[in-house]
Parts: sequence; C-alpha cells; structure tokens
Amino acid sequence: MVECGVGGLASPGGVRATGWRGLLTPDATCTHATAISPQGLRRRGIRALLVDLDNTLSPWNQPGCDPQVAAWLRALRVAGIAVCIVSNNGPERVRAFLRGCDADLPWIARAGKPRRGVYQRALRMLSAEPAHTAAVGDQVFTDVLGGKRAGLVAILVTPLAEREFPATRVVRLVEGWWLRRLRAEGALRAL
Ligand SMILES: [Mg+2]
Repeated sequence: MVECGVGGLASPGGVRATGWRGLLTPDATCTHATAISPQGLRRRGIRALLVDLDNTLSPWNQPGCDPQVAAWLRALRVAGIAVCIVSNNGPERVRAFLRGCDADLPWIARAGKPRRGVYQRALRMLSAEPAHTAAVGDQVFTDVLGGKRAGLVAILVTPLAEREFPATRVVRLVEGWWLRRLRAEGALRAL
C-alpha cells in the first residue's frame, strides 16, 4: 500500500479557514482514499474521517465494494479511527455499498454537502472533534469546501471514474481550472 502521508498538511485541523481561497484549498491531495495510511492519520492526530462515497470509495453509482476499500475500512477500525460515510447520494446507494463492504458504519445520505450542518451532525455521531477529524472526498466544491467550513482537515482524492452526475461534470470544469491554478502556485500538496 502506498502511504499517503499527512504529516505535511498545509494547515492544522480545528483552525477554520477564512476567505474563499482557504475554503477551496485542500490540505492534502491523494491518488486514492486507500492510500491514506491509518497510522499516518494517527501520527497526525486524526481520529475520525468523514468520507464521501461516489468516486471516492466506489465509482459513481456502481454496485459493490472493492476488496481493497473493504480492507482499508477494516484497517481504519483496527487503528481506532472512526469513520462516517457522508454522501450526497441516496440512502439505498449508501446501504448497498456498506453491505458490499460488510462494514457497519454510521452514514448520512442526501447530505447536501457542502452544508456545514451535515459535517457537524457527522461529528456528533462519531463524538469527534473538528481538530482531530479529516474530510475525504473527490470534489473541491462539496467535500473540500464543506470540510473546511466545518474546521476539518480536507483531503482531496483523485476521482475513481469519469462517469458521474451530469451537473457534477459542469462543476468539474471550474474545479479543473482551480486545481491547475493551485498546482501552478505550488499550493497543492501531493502526498
Ligand atoms: Mg464524490
């Protein structure tokens, strides 16, 4: 497993980002969620993850669960890192995914990310503190923005597939421009 270190995060969790630039800049980027090492998270003081589903853990609207993802979720549990799935997709989709992974995790569907309230609800479900929690997802304008608004560490992963919700494809054009700009400025920390 490629370790996706989080030791060099640009900003600590628990410090609420201010300004649109801060809110739209991930603290770390990673090729795939499963490359985020549970031990690396612990070393960084992260004790909880709020994880997106579509194109983060599973290709958009694809049934089943990749065995590598199931193994990662088990490794997080063993490492004592609490996980809540926070998805803008419907409850059936989330339930089917968790059944496929044989994982009994708390979840929130139709979350309406990037609303801050949904992250606060997830934090309550896990009894987690913002300073010790990271949001993991594949979209800047939902996962990174929502996580940063709630004062969490935000880890952006590369989308698993190009297939996605039609409206998302439009947002991706703006997102692509923004990420190219951050990369050119050296503001993206690829881990
Ligand atoms: Mg997603």
